[in-house]
Amino acid sequence: DPVLSLRGIEKTYLKGTPGEVRVLSGLDLDVRRGEVVALVAPSGAGKSTLLHVAGLLDTADAGEVRIGGREVTTLSDRARTAVRRREIGFVYQFHHLLPEFSAEENVALPQLADGRDRRAAFDRARDLLERVGVGHRATHRPAELSGGEQQRVAFCRALANGPALLLADEPTGNLDPVTADRVFDILMQVVRETGLAALIATHNMELAARMDRTVRLSDGRIA
Ligand code: ADP
Ligand code: ADP
Repeated sequence: DPVLSLRGIEKTYLKGTPGEVRVLSGLDLDVRRGEVVALVAPSGAGKSTLLHVAGLLDTADAGEVRIGGREVTTLSDRARTAVRRREIGFVYQFHHLLPEFSAEENVALPQLADGRDRRAAFDRARDLLERVGVGHRATHRPAELSGGEQQRVAFCRALANGPALLLADEPTGNLDPVTADRVFDILMQVVRETGLAALIATHNMELAARMDRTVRLSDGRIA
């Protein structure tokens, strides 16, 4: 089974009002284990909506969402939250790290929330931070880190609970080109080593070309 499978996804905002906007209309997409897919679309085409539906942060009006072969559309909110926590990691354009916590605390927190014990959570946090080259920054707060370091920490947080699926929205979009390139290489390396399925929205065609496959979102579907 694909790690992520979307079938016939429909999403309309403000349905039945004059502001109604149909964003996804019969969208199908599969992302398999170990596959890194670039999601390319003009602004406003519905990339964020698609990532939110795939990441179980929002529900579609119709269609099927399967994570690891399991249909999740019909699950309770609580069960969906559990799937999201365990199976899905998110990276955004801005790091969204908690400013009052250190890098390692930011990476440990999702694990503690998922019931892992403190020692194991911090060991794993430090291990992940080492792997992306920011081990020496483990006890620093986000404000004390560079943009590239912040994004690498955010990335470790996304991987903290060992997800099967990584969803990223312009993960290097806020970095200067040289740093973006470096952070992207690190991201790809860890994704490859871990065998994750990844769906990465980007405007950067050079980055898209380094992924396994590019899909284009237009008129509410994958073109
Ligand atoms: P993208 O990420 O590709 O820029 P979005 O998924 O954010 O696109 O938005 C797609 C369309 O849906 C846009 O026209 C946007 O204005 C509209 N939209 C997004 N979220 C909402 C919302 N919560 N309510 C109403 N319209 C929305
Ligand atoms: P658990 O302790 O719950 O068994 P693991 O730490 O063994 O979890 O890892 C769970 C998932 O996370 C596995 O799919 C594994 O490939 C991945 N993983 C393990 N260690 C790392 C790491 N250091 N960086 C990234 N992913 C990892």
